[in-house]
Amino acid sequence: MDDCLFCGIIGRKIPAKIVFEDDRALAFDDVNPAAPVHVLVVPKRHVPTLNDAGDGDLAGHLLNVAATVAGEKGVARTGYRVVVNVNRDAMQTVFHLHIHVIGGRPLGWPPG
Ligand code: AMP
Ligand code: ZN
Repeated sequence: MDDCLFCGIIGRKIPAKIVFEDDRALAFDDVNPAAPVHVLVVPKRHVPTLNDAGDGDLAGHLLNVAATVAGEKGVARTGYRVVVNVNRDAMQTVFHLHIHVIGGRPLGWPPG
C-alpha cells in the first residue's frame, strides 16, 4: 500500500533499524521506544489490524518471530510483553498489523 508507513519500511523506502526478516515477516526497532527493548513485528503483506489477519497461520508465525526477536534482544529469560493494539479504544495509530515486543525493564500491569 503506497500510503502505509510500515509498507514503506518493508519496501525500504522509509529507513528503520531492521532486526529480523524472513519471507513473511519483518521486525524493526520502534522509533519511539517505551522500554530499552521495543521492537515491532509486522507481516510483509499489508494487513490493517489483527481483525484482518484471518484464520491462517500468519498471527501464529508473527508470535513466533516475536519470541525469536526477544531471544536475540536478550530479554527472553528476564521477560517481555507482546502487545497488539487494535483500533480506537486500544489507540492503534498505524493501520498495518504490528506486534510490539517490549522489555528490558519491569513492566507495570494492568496497562493504562
Ligand atoms: P500503535 O499505537 O500500536 O499503532 O503503535 C505504532 C507504533 O509505531 C508506535 O509505537 C510508534 O512509536 C511506532 N512508529 C511510528 N513510526 C515509526 C517509524 N517510522 N519507525 C518505527 N516505528 C514507528
Ligand atoms: Zn502496510
